[in-house]
Amino acid sequence: MPMLSCSAITCVYNKDELCSKGDITVGGSNAKTSDETCCESFKERTSQDYSNSEGKGCKTIKVDCEAQECVYNDNCKCDAAKIGIGGSSACRCEETKCGTFQCTCK
Ligand code: SF4
Repeated sequence: MPMLSCSAITCVYNKDELCSKGDITVGGSNAKTSDETCCESFKERTSQDYSNSEGKGCKTIKVDCEAQECVYNDNCKCDAAKIGIGGSSACRCEETKCGTFQCTCK
């Protein structure tokens, strides 16, 4: 399982830039660049969630990934040692991305 650091601090699962969800799905089945990927598990945090969000951030996480053009994609599972999800002011999943994506096309 990859180590995950996530800058999408507006996500309900984000705990000090770690993810508390347990598993995530990265989308972007036709992605050729990092910008064309997204974290499909992103869920915007409301101000109410801020005070009562649950769970604990984990350093490693199971990542299902649809971005089959990525060099780290192994049968729809991420095989990278470490990934970084970006999107510090995201309100929607489309505004996040996997910054570690690297295209096999290069
Ligand atoms: S590094 Fe590649 S395989 Fe891993 S989550 Fe990011 S896009 Fe998917």
